[in-house]
Amino acid sequence: MTATATRVLVLNSGSSSLKYQLLDMHDASRLAVGLVERIGEETSRLVHTPLATGGAKRETEGAMADHDAALKAVAAELAADGLGLDSPQLAAIGHRVVHGGLKFTAPTVIDDAVLTEIERLVPVAPLHNPANITGIRTARALRPDLPQVAVFDTAFHTTMPEYAARYAIDVATADAHRIRRYGFHGTSHAYVSRKTAALLGKDPSEVNVIVLHLGNGASASAVAGGRCVDTSMGLTPLEGLVMGTRSGDIDPAVTFHLKRVAGMSEDEVDELLNKKSGLIGLCGDNDMREIRRRIDEGDDRAKLAFDIYIHRLKKYLGAYTAVLGRVDAVAFTAGVGENAAPVREAAIAGLAEMGMSVDADRNAVRSDEPRLISPEDSRVAVAVVPTDEELEIAQQTYALVSA
Ligand code: ADP
Repeated sequence: MTATATRVLVLNSGSSSLKYQLLDMHDASRLAVGLVERIGEETSRLVHTPLATGGAKRETEGAMADHDAALKAVAAELAADGLGLDSPQLAAIGHRVVHGGLKFTAPTVIDDAVLTEIERLVPVAPLHNPANITGIRTARALRPDLPQVAVFDTAFHTTMPEYAARYAIDVATADAHRIRRYGFHGTSHAYVSRKTAALLGKDPSEVNVIVLHLGNGASASAVAGGRCVDTSMGLTPLEGLVMGTRSGDIDPAVTFHLKRVAGMSEDEVDELLNKKSGLIGLCGDNDMREIRRRIDEGDDRAKLAFDIYIHRLKKYLGAYTAVLGRVDAVAFTAGVGENAAPVREAAIAGLAEMGMSVDADRNAVRSDEPRLISPEDSRVAVAVVPTDEELEIAQQTYALVSA
């Protein structure tokens, strides 16, 4: 890395998508952002926004057979803005990797051994790690000389005590198959809990925070003095809160019932719980804006879906208050958490005995900045803290390669 190399390219590879951001860590500014969708289809689409040049958004359609073709197309777009991947200013590429198991507790420079280890985790993350691996291989082939760093969604949760991470099942079976609670969205929980401490003017080590990451996927975490002590997602992202399309917590016997009584196959049950449950299963919509609109029109199904969603949130707020003993702040983040004031209001309503309340005027403010929504004298600070997983990945990557 040269002294002038301050740029980091962040890649988030999905099974048929590639999201990217190029950041300059000199001032944490975004130089370009974009997304390739429908990789492997005839109708692949690249949307590129060159923020550094202030240029207009550019869209390219046409078949991109694989991630290699997609990344080459991205590299060409960046080069057209003078931000090519061959630039000496590029310090590193940071990859989002969903599952790091127990081994990866921190961002890690990728070499062949690390890649092999990420591959060993495919059985516990069959939907996510293969795509992440493809992205890493492609980027390494394009810039073999450049440091590439894996930043794991699970890493922040590896501090969970054993009694929070283990399921109460036969230990030998659990260990043989690496069955335990790993948690996800860790990059977001790390970033938001730190930002929340800053909002309170405190060091992360001084505060206990409950983070509610409410996007299409949703998870809660209990963070004590900067360390995660519990989180709502488990072996997979299916456990915990009610989500856009996932059920969250459910009696596992429901799955036996669906197989034995309803005659569903393993894959059908998997699809039901991951893709056809949660808000969409309950009311046919998974966008909170649409659900609120329907509630305003008097739609009972939308109202019930909302109430179930809120009830689960309250249960986790209660549980994590007990786990932490003392809560200094509750932070709402991600698409729903940052934008849906009615969700924040309803989740905190009735929790005054736990020291939590929301000020209606503060809650109605729309902003991209971290902000308090609790009254001035609130025992527990309730806050909206926008997440920024790409910035966190870039910062962790840059810190590692510039150390
Ligand atoms: P993902 O998990 O896909 O990263 P996001 O964090 O982007 O999700 O959240 C997406 C969700 O945020 C949408 O499905 C929608 O329910 C919700 N959302 C986005 N904007 C608003 C808004 N203005 N009001 C209410 N909900 C919103």
